[in-house]
Amino acid sequence: MAQLLFPSIDKTPEDYEAMYPARDLPEGAKVTRFAPSPTGFLHFGSLFAAFIAAKTAGKDGVFYLRIEDTDKKREVENGVIGMVNGLKQFGIIPDEGATGETTETGAYGPYTQSKRTPIYQAYVKDLVEKGLAYPCFMTEDEIAEVRAQQEAEKALPGIYGKCAKYRDITVDEAKAKIDAGEEYVVRLKSPGKPDGRIKFKDEVKGKIEIQENILDIVLLKKDGTPTYHFAHAIDDHLMRTTHVTRGDEWLSSVPIHLQLFYVLGFKAPKYAHIAPIMKEDEETHGKRKLSKRKDPEAAVSYYAEAGYPAGAVNEYLMTIANSNYEDWKRANKTGTIDDFGFALNKMSKAGALFDMIKLHDISKTYISTLDTETVYSAVSEWSKEYDEELYNLITRNVDYAKKIFSIERGNKKPRKDIGKWSEVKDYIAYFYDELFDGKYECVANVTPEDAKEILTKYLEIYDPNGAAEDWFPQVKELAVSLGYAGMPKEYKQNPDAYKGHVGDVSSVIRVAVTGRLNTPDLYQIMQTLGSDKVKERIESAINALK
Ligand code: GLU
Repeated sequence: MAQLLFPSIDKTPEDYEAMYPARDLPEGAKVTRFAPSPTGFLHFGSLFAAFIAAKTAGKDGVFYLRIEDTDKKREVENGVIGMVNGLKQFGIIPDEGATGETTETGAYGPYTQSKRTPIYQAYVKDLVEKGLAYPCFMTEDEIAEVRAQQEAEKALPGIYGKCAKYRDITVDEAKAKIDAGEEYVVRLKSPGKPDGRIKFKDEVKGKIEIQENILDIVLLKKDGTPTYHFAHAIDDHLMRTTHVTRGDEWLSSVPIHLQLFYVLGFKAPKYAHIAPIMKEDEETHGKRKLSKRKDPEAAVSYYAEAGYPAGAVNEYLMTIANSNYEDWKRANKTGTIDDFGFALNKMSKAGALFDMIKLHDISKTYISTLDTETVYSAVSEWSKEYDEELYNLITRNVDYAKKIFSIERGNKKPRKDIGKWSEVKDYIAYFYDELFDGKYECVANVTPEDAKEILTKYLEIYDPNGAAEDWFPQVKELAVSLGYAGMPKEYKQNPDAYKGHVGDVSSVIRVAVTGRLNTPDLYQIMQTLGSDKVKERIESAINALK
């Protein structure tokens, strides 16, 4: 029978076992994979799954990218590169596997399923030879009939037991049908029993017991290509995967998979089924899966466009992955996610809630720890792709731009003003006349006349070469001379004795120079802008107040 079905397959499982030997890795090293269909769309949940696989492999293990293109309906043109680049943008670079539409790296390939057909067929041939698989010539109509009957009887749907019409087909019968041009699939002769149970330990979900598989599932489709289930068993075995990390929608397929590993005589990998990332639904306030259709943030491209740095997204992914990460981080402020001991069994079984505000906060803290050079190059890289105006501004005078980014950076308590690169333009706006709106907004408790007086007097004492530590005392002196309290506390104790306090005076200067009430250190801002620009801004504020 095997020869009848696969006359041109001359390699045997032994040949492939020799071609893909056990990996030479340190004891306990894990081999993991991310195995998407090449749809070109990288969902945030898939990025998370890839992240988990990469972190599980860690430094000692191997993490590879396998392209599962057995379902041609799901494929799109250039879908592979979309997945590869999506991962790359977030610093997830597989050790092996697909690197582009037709390129790959690693000794366990091909890593694209459509290029592995002869391998799958060799194993199916072997199963047929051992009587563990058979050709099934059932037509679509016959299968539909079986299904209708099963539905009526409320029986388990599928081809098994007495419905498995061709389980015992002879070689002669098969030959006659093939000669007559009839099409067939190859099915597993499932050894499962209706009352059989299997037990296994999922690395995330814990101990699981379910009904074993009794279905004669399809191994090879009519065109000779494998089903997902069969390809999974062959690939994860030959690529020597130790841990299969994947979405928990696959949990119910484990009985099929474990049975396939069993009939094929392979050691089964460990399974870790990851719960989907959930989101609070704005309408119902209930939890639902992050949806490609409803949530723009479900697409990984969203984070790249918004300009969330890869490091921040990775850190956020780790907080979703292991909720104890945050405590660890508080105790290990300078530690990175690679120093943290990620564990599959500490993952949420039910699905962590997606939290954009938290991502933003994590990103703000993350960006605050970056040095000026890193920020400058990240912003130029991002703006080159997504914001031409910003790119032109910051590359026009590189030193000036770097000076801006260095304000209150690298000190003990760096500011957390920027959460994503798309916020940079607003953050630096007042350093560029093109972006500075030049409107003078009055400070709440200072009249225009008083503001004018403050600015006029300030221009008289403004010293472009003054030292940082002299700046505030000077403003304070000015404040006191104009009838303001030198300290907010003094003002609060006796508000009627003053016009306001030093904070109001510095706010007036701040608004004149930057147009804002809240900025980083004003002295540093003024030093960066240069005295001409500072004077020009203050003068035009005075004019605006006339
Ligand atoms: N190709 C499957 C998917 O796209 C992967 C499942 C697995 O990782 O085993 O969901």
